[in-house]
Amino acid sequence: MSLFSRDPILLTPGPLTTSLPTKAAMLRDWGSWDASFNAVTAGVRRKLLAIVHGEETHVCVPMQGSGTFSVEAAVNTLVPRDGHVLVLINGAYGTRLAKLTRMMGRRLSTFETPEDVPTTPQDVDRLLAADPSITHVGLIHCETSTGILNPLPEIAAVVARHGRSLIVDAMSSFAALPIDARSVPFDALIAASGKCVEGPPGMGFVFVRRAVLEQCAGRSTSLALDLHDQWTYMEKTTQWRFTPPTHIVVALDAALDQLGAEGGQPARLARYAKNCETLVGGMAELGFRVFLEPGIQAPIIVTFHAPADPNYEFKPFYDCVRDKGFVLYPGKLTQVETFRVGCIGAIGPDEMRHAVNAVRDTLAQMGIRQVSPAVV
Ligand SMILES: *Cc1c(COP(=O)(O)O)cnc(C)c1O
Repeated sequence: MSLFSRDPILLTPGPLTTSLPTKAAMLRDWGSWDASFNAVTAGVRRKLLAIVHGEETHVCVPMQGSGTFSVEAAVNTLVPRDGHVLVLINGAYGTRLAKLTRMMGRRLSTFETPEDVPTTPQDVDRLLAADPSITHVGLIHCETSTGILNPLPEIAAVVARHGRSLIVDAMSSFAALPIDARSVPFDALIAASGKCVEGPPGMGFVFVRRAVLEQCAGRSTSLALDLHDQWTYMEKTTQWRFTPPTHIVVALDAALDQLGAEGGQPARLARYAKNCETLVGGMAELGFRVFLEPGIQAPIIVTFHAPADPNYEFKPFYDCVRDKGFVLYPGKLTQVETFRVGCIGAIGPDEMRHAVNAVRDTLAQMGIRQVSPAVV
């Protein structure tokens, strides 16, 4: 344990490490009627929409709460009560999307591939051709439970060709991976403040096709999670419908300005790619094996096989690495023992190198010699 109290570096996919200017933006109180605060909200919505180039076609509707609140709001606002949603699953967030769709009372079908296998556009084409009653398709862009990337542009094209509506959970990819509403057709795309835009957690947002949202009055079965109502109220009054997460909004605004100064989404992707490369390379030198094939690995979060050594156990490993200043993330797989390391946040390759060193020292301290997994 260090003698000095410092915040550890969060290698977790939200909450994540934020910059000092982003934290400093939260040192002020704002009233929800204050015109200057509502101007910040408008600016945040505009800056977010520009990241997906959606100015001509979509609107950005912010929503209080963690990312899941916005996913649930999107399904509940867009899908008619007699709609039929096909959810494409290859991990825990796909499973969650299916579960909330069912709980919202919508008809649900699922298509599941193993956690290391992306959904293909051919799968979607076949499923939509076979069932004309499907009205909406739900897709997780980067499935954070492993870090696997699903082919959004190709699947979006297939869904559009079949004349169905696409709802994308782009929570952990937005602002890092390229998403262009001018060439990738979607009706709703969801992300949140505390992921790759590097703000604090507490607010989500949904990019909804304006012509679609205009048709969505009265569809929601929830008062709080009604995106149509949130949107129309905000357009009319400039205010949030219910208490806004003021500090999160101003910090997100600061984080978005830093994203712009860094060079926008392409620069962020380049930094995360370097983080990922540094991490995977360093961990490979220690003997760790990654769970996914490189071609389907998004540079957002990396799943590593746990060491086979009998001295390995996640909790003491986690505690020991944390004492050295780095917070890891448990695995989320049922079949194999893994742990995860995030590449996102206000961190660079230096932090990743230091994290690998902390893991190296931890292996020595715990007497872990067999680092590679028992069976792959
Ligand atoms: C983080 C995340 C969510 C939202 O999770 P919350 O815990 O509600 O913030 C949803 N989908 C994906 C893919 C995510 O990474």
